[in-house]
Amino acid sequence: GLFVLVVFISSILDPITWWTFDKYIIASMRDARAFIFKYVQDLDFAFHTEKSTGALISAFKRGDSAFWSISNELQEILLLVINYVVLLISFWFISPRYAVAAFVFFVINLLSMKFLVSLNIEKRTAFNEEEDRVSSHITDNLINYDTVKFFAKEEREHVSLMEKFSVWEKALWGYSYSWRTIEFVTTFNTILGYVVMLSLMYFDIKAGRITIGDFVVVIGFLNSYFPRLTRLLFRLRNIAKSYSDIERYFDLLDEDIQIKDPIEPVDIKNITGEVVFKDVTFAYNKGNAVLKNINLTIKPGESVALVGRSGSGKTTMTKLLLRFFDPQKGTISIDGIDIKEAKKAELRSVMGVVPQEPIMFNNTIEYNIGYGDDAPTRKKVTAAAQLAHLHDFIMTLPKKYKTTVGERGIKLSGGQKQRLAIARMMMVNPQIIIFDEATSHLDSESEQLIQSAFWDISKEKTTIIIAHRLSTIQRADRIIVLDEGEIVEEGTHEELIKKKHGHYQMLWKLQTEGLIDR
Ligand code: ADP
Repeated sequence: GLFVLVVFISSILDPITWWTFDKYIIASMRDARAFIFKYVQDLDFAFHTEKSTGALISAFKRGDSAFWSISNELQEILLLVINYVVLLISFWFISPRYAVAAFVFFVINLLSMKFLVSLNIEKRTAFNEEEDRVSSHITDNLINYDTVKFFAKEEREHVSLMEKFSVWEKALWGYSYSWRTIEFVTTFNTILGYVVMLSLMYFDIKAGRITIGDFVVVIGFLNSYFPRLTRLLFRLRNIAKSYSDIERYFDLLDEDIQIKDPIEPVDIKNITGEVVFKDVTFAYNKGNAVLKNINLTIKPGESVALVGRSGSGKTTMTKLLLRFFDPQKGTISIDGIDIKEAKKAELRSVMGVVPQEPIMFNNTIEYNIGYGDDAPTRKKVTAAAQLAHLHDFIMTLPKKYKTTVGERGIKLSGGQKQRLAIARMMMVNPQIIIFDEATSHLDSESEQLIQSAFWDISKEKTTIIIAHRLSTIQRADRIIVLDEGEIVEEGTHEELIKKKHGHYQMLWKLQTEGLIDR
């Protein structure tokens, strides 16, 4: 009766144990994933320009499943350890000598495991690096599928992947060997343990120190002791594997955020839009200044076109204004407030950016236009699309505002994407606008639509244009000419065009005389 009761209680307790563990494991798995993702998203622009999406995703996936298995293993180990201790104590009461002998084998096993497990972690980490390399190659190929197709390089990419796989394979074998070695050594130790204990008993029976009855009891115990010990050691091995997977996952949290929010931020919401660069010097890599001693004041509501050769530092100026990087020297302020004094999120929310090649979410047109607004209504989205001269085009589509734009916005043309980006920016009504003109040739209708949309919305707003087109340059209030990271000329189009042998005059001639096409 007691036996039935115990079995009954244990069968009820088991599911309760699993359920309680799972309740916490699932919640902490979700929290870890969300926390790490949020942390990665908060990391600096510099981190994101250096990262490999493929490697990062593979680290995420491995870490996530390791989190699950490590939690399960720990829970199993906890039960096994309790089980093992109870067994050892009972063993002690039956025969202290054999209990000590069994324990000695446990220690021997543990010591050999210590060495083998650290080797296994090392091999696993090395394999993970190769796995990330393969994953990075595959992701990069998926992203650049069009370039691969343009050049018909599918076969070469396959060969290059196979080369990576040959290193990957070696690393996997190394890891697999160290894994199997643990299995072999543990099994060998266990058999050795059995043999030694059986020999011990054989001599004890022969010498009449123990009875056949004792022998049967001890064998019974050993039969349950050694398999448990092996299971415990294998669990430890699994933990070692998960440990190296989870280490890389949590290591992401050690990445430093360089561009920090101030402790006591200054409110920057209601601004007029005056932008001042004062003695700004900046280098991405030490000793290689991309911007040198920049001094520039942009009045509220003024439109300024940045022009200059490719690589002269135009985009970098806007990245500094958005605080994607901090300059090594000098300050940048908005309405007299040093941008380092404001919260990054608030600073960026007073600015609207239309990038050269806008990227969209693989979602509907409506979702993409309304992205910057926390509660976008169809009315607001339509109004923004109308301002951006995109509404008429949207209405020609079968699903209209519910049309999906494809990954990164692939189903839209360059001009449509830029107009969508203008509409998206309009939704948040920023005081400062940064417009990076598309360098690629748009058809004249598209260009005219973009230009007219852009000038309509930029009224009374401070506007910084990275300009490539004559029409834009001429309409701007002021032109700033950059060369090798320095402001070399500034003024209106009429003023600059008259400057003999000036940089601007040269750029202008190159464009109007058709020597270069932008
Ligand atoms: P522009 O917009 O005038 O064409 P950029 O401001 O983009 O020029 O670039 C200025 C210089 O900075 C270029 O020499 C470019 O190679 C370099 N650069 C741009 N971004 C980075 C980066 N993330 N890391 C290192 N160098 C960069």
